[in-house]
Formats: sequence, C-alpha cells, structure tokens
Amino acid sequence: MSIEVPPGHRAGFVALLGKPNVGKSTLLNALLGTRLAIVTPKAQTTRHRILGVLSQPDYQIVFSDTPGVIRPQYGLHHSMMKAAGSSLQDADAVLLLVAPEETHDEEPLRQLLGTVQAPIVLVVNKADAYSQAQILQRVADWQALQPARVVVVSALQHTGLDHLLAALLELLPLAPPYYDKDTLTDRPERFFVAEIIREQVFLHTQKEIPYSSEVSILFFRDDDGTGRAHIEAEIHVERQSQKGIVIGKQGQMIRQIGTDARQEIQSLLGRPVRLELYVRVAEDWKNKTGYLRRFGYDT
Ligand code: GDP
Ligand code: MG
Repeated sequence: MSIEVPPGHRAGFVALLGKPNVGKSTLLNALLGTRLAIVTPKAQTTRHRILGVLSQPDYQIVFSDTPGVIRPQYGLHHSMMKAAGSSLQDADAVLLLVAPEETHDEEPLRQLLGTVQAPIVLVVNKADAYSQAQILQRVADWQALQPARVVVVSALQHTGLDHLLAALLELLPLAPPYYDKDTLTDRPERFFVAEIIREQVFLHTQKEIPYSSEVSILFFRDDDGTGRAHIEAEIHVERQSQKGIVIGKQGQMIRQIGTDARQEIQSLLGRPVRLELYVRVAEDWKNKTGYLRRFGYDT
C-alpha cells in the first residue's frame, strides 16, 4: 500500500497552552468541527492531554489540548502539569491562548514557555466579549515573549479561525501525515464516554464536588442483538459526605446526571445506550498514586 502525499504537504504537532478557562477546549472543538474535549464554565475541567487531528488534503495538524497551567497544589495537579509539559517537547509550534479577563498568577505559564524552542503563536480569544483596547492590552502583556504570529479569535463564535490556521501552517514543516486522514483522536471511545459523564458531574454539582470527582468505566459492551450499548461506570468522590451529595435526595442528582450523560453518549456513539452509574468513595484519591494510575494519569 502506498499513500499519495501531495507535494507541499505540511504536517506537525501543535501544543495548545494557556491558563484554565481561556477557551482551549472550545477552540480545539471549533477547529475540529466536533465536540472532542469537554467544556464547562468551571476552571480545570480538562485533566488529560487529548490529541485532536485536523486533516485536509494538503495538511495535517495534530493538536494537543492540555490542562491549564497552574501552580500544582496536590498530586493530581502535578500529573496535569506533566501532561502540559510533555506536549511541549514534541511540538512544532506552540499555540499560546490568552483571554482578556485573566491576568494574575501567570508565572507558572511564563516559566513553562521559557523552555520552549518551537515558534509561539499568541492567540487572544474571546474577541466577542471584549473591546479592542482590552485585546491590545493582552497582546502588549505578552510582547516580551516575541511571538512568531499574533491572531485574535473567538472560539465561541468561530471568528478568526482561518487566520489562525494560515498562521500555524506557515510554521509547520513539509512532512507527510502522521495519522490516517480519517483519524480524529488518539483516545478510544470509552475515554470520551467517561469524559462525558465527568462533564455532567461538573455541570450538575457545586463547590468542591466537581474537583473531587473522577469517572471510570467498568463495563462497555453492546447488548446481544439489540444494537444498544450497555455501559456501567463508577463516579469516584473523595469523601463519604460527597457521595451523598452526588446521589442526591432519593437519588435525584445521580438520575439527572445519568439522564443527561446518556443523551450525550448516545449522540457520540450514534446508537441507544443503557447507562448504569455507581458512586464510590476513593478516599483522598487526588493524592494517591495508586488511584491516579488507575484513573489513567501519569504519576
Ligand atoms: P479551557 O479551560 O481553556 O479549556 O476553557 P474552556 O474551553 O473549557 O472554556 C472556558 C469557558 O470560556 C467556557 O464557559 C466557554 O464557553 C468560554 N469561552 C470559550 N471561548 C470563548 C469565546 O471565544 N468567547 C466567549 N465569550 N467565551 C468563550
Ligand atoms: Mg479545557
């Protein structure tokens, strides 16, 4: 088998970097035209590195969405920062996403960027929500970094994305594709199923509960002859008291999470889903290597 690669084909890895909540996951989904990464209004929704592959006949860009760069406070944070750091090492270009509203505690991000060899594209997001002056102020804040390109976008309203892609492509090497042109991601279906359930926990619960929760898939198989997927998943929380909250009065909360998650999973899989959720206490899991490994984190 031989793969035709047109002359002038460009391909490369692009690391998406930025503080929590600047819109990295929204941008990735907008660029790929699909909902790959979960997006919620709460900071630190993204915990893992997720590859998203954008293919056209004449190019392939492999994006990695990373957890936002923060000061690590517990074991899970260290693992999240490791994910951000490792995607920098094999990047052909770094896409630094900033938003006009975030200003404080940029030191961890600046330190990480100080180690980057690849060209940096500074992208100011949320252009729909801020004035020209506020946007220019953000560009000025990052001038010292000497970005190779500066682009202003709205990931939410899909503006500026063509400019962004053009700017990135100029920085990528001539190379054949790394993945099949119909590959969208490196993660298996069950990873996204767990992420969808976690997204619903984020959306339905408050205070520390979202940050105390993790989801693992126990069982994922199609029921015989029904064309329906049967999924069992566990929602892990850190403490007994949180378990009660996630289950809710007479099971109301967990039912709501289950109903909403099931709909999203059905639209992901394109077939009916039977979903069973269990809530378990994994005492202090964010600081325990055993649990972190089991949940798929590098430790
Ligand atoms: P991440 O933590 O950097 O991955 O950020 P998310 O993609 O999860 O987005 C965080 C929040 O910012 C969500 O509520 C998004 O809807 C919102 N957001 C993302 N992009 C834009 C944008 O272009 N304009 C506006 N107004 N909000 C945005
Ligand atoms: Mg994210």
